[in-house]
Amino acid sequence: MKAVRLTAWGREPTLAEVERPVPREAEVLVRVEASGLCHSDLHVVDAAPGALPYRPPFTLGHEVAGHVAALGPDATGPTVGERVALYGPWGCGVCARCASGQDNYCDRRGGLGWHGAGLGRDGGMAEYVLVPSVRHLVPIGDLAARQAAPLTDAGLTSYHAIAGLRHALGEGTNAAVIGIGGLGHLAVQILRATTPSRVLAVDIREEALALGHRSGAHVGTLLRADTARTLKARTGGAGVDAVLDFVGNRATLELAVDILRPGGELALVGSGGGQLTVRKPGFLPPGFRLSLPFWGTRPELTEVIALARSGTLDVATEEHPLSAAPEIFGRLRAGRVHGRAVLDC
Ligand code: NAD
Ligand code: ZN
Ligand code: ZN
Repeated sequence: MKAVRLTAWGREPTLAEVERPVPREAEVLVRVEASGLCHSDLHVVDAAPGALPYRPPFTLGHEVAGHVAALGPDATGPTVGERVALYGPWGCGVCARCASGQDNYCDRRGGLGWHGAGLGRDGGMAEYVLVPSVRHLVPIGDLAARQAAPLTDAGLTSYHAIAGLRHALGEGTNAAVIGIGGLGHLAVQILRATTPSRVLAVDIREEALALGHRSGAHVGTLLRADTARTLKARTGGAGVDAVLDFVGNRATLELAVDILRPGGELALVGSGGGQLTVRKPGFLPPGFRLSLPFWGTRPELTEVIALARSGTLDVATEEHPLSAAPEIFGRLRAGRVHGRAVLDC
């Protein structure tokens, strides 16, 4: 079967012919229908040797949807042909966190040697993917695979980050979303669907702001020297209650700290490598709270899929054949993807 392989750190992924896996014990083989390309895939490709707790070679792809193709002898539950999305942050499966569906915060993550599907273990940019357990499968019914695949990370991570901010996003509040790409445009939709907050979108691309607007943002502004002043003015001078930063570089972290009101919350999701210095006395707003959400929980993925099936979420996608993957990585790197690029597998 065809698979998009990372063969060495820093080397662009290539399309290769690999053997189709056979499910053993409790494993499940899924025929992939669609696999999303995440900006994290670029961070993984570009990682310095030793920076991540796993090593190439492996098949990329951590946003995956398809149908069950075969079950190992000990796998029970789903039937062959059942359409599913993959919960990707595979944990140890036995710790208290994994038992409650929080594989994303597995207590043994440090010793596993992978972060999940396509992140140290073979993922879904391939015709088939081997899933370690049926507990990682969420039924999707007739939801299109090109919608379901990005929801497993771009949707789930945004949903989980917002869940952590919900107490700060009541009536009359303002939330800023920085970076309106794959994750950011879904964060705007989830904020609109699940909170009464006013949503302010920030990006460096006009077309991303247009997508933010179509996703329900009330205000959209390009990142410029005067953006903090503009955004504060749009909140009556007080500042915003929460910032979701889907970029995480120096410029966006500075903006986040500048526009937060006292007691404000920052969810740092993007892996842009920016740094924030915590010091008292210092420049962070009094009462400032920071979270570093990672992916999301299995129950949250079920909620995200349900929101999409009810028509509340709509992923903006551009579709490409699996064979075009190497070229689409270049497109994502150049900032030319609109919403989420999804590979038709
Ligand atoms: P993307 O490439 O689809 O979108 C990024 C957006 O940010 C683009 O619209 C781009 O124009 C915009 N942008 C770039 N620089 C900017 C700047 N200086 N100011 C404002 N906007 C800017 O990326 P994505 O797939 O949505 O991922 C976003 C980030 O989230 C990545 O760093 C990714 O690695 C990270 N991520 C984290 C998790 C997690 O669990 N924490 C999960 C998935 C992705
Ligand atoms: Zn991702
Ligand atoms: Zn665990």
